[in-house]
Amino acid sequence: MPTGIYDHSKRRGTHHTIKSILKMSNSHLGKKLSNQTKRKISNTLIGKKPKNLEYLHRINKGKNHGNWKGDNVGYVSLHSWVYRWKGKPNQCNICNAHKKEKRICWSNTNHKYKRILKDWIPLCYRCHQNFDKKNNNYPIKNKNQFS
Ligand SMILES: [Zn+2]
Repeated sequence: MPTGIYDHSKRRGTHHTIKSILKMSNSHLGKKLSNQTKRKISNTLIGKKPKNLEYLHRINKGKNHGNWKGDNVGYVSLHSWVYRWKGKPNQCNICNAHKKEKRICWSNTNHKYKRILKDWIPLCYRCHQNFDKKNNNYPIKNKNQFS
């Protein structure tokens, strides 16, 4: 890279410490912006992610995050992610039970629990349990989840 050019993308969102972020937000306390300025700001920000999003994710991760749920967090949040993209399942893929008869949930076909939507199939609780046992990969720490 030629001199005088600095790759900002590498350090994006990382060059402020938590302390300095708080200082900056405090310095704006009590100051009011005119409606025109507010509109200008909101217009420029439409469709943009916050510059320090990655950084915020990092400091808000895990135990620091308000929604911290303990060991199950990966499992639970992954499931809610599947529901968000695929909606509620209607019918079991194995016994064809309808959601009116049984509770249907999304099941991960290869038990790798990756964020790949086609890896998830709708199964009722019973089929889900049998399916997981058959694959000998029943997650022990979640064994109460389906009983
Ligand atoms: Zn079933």
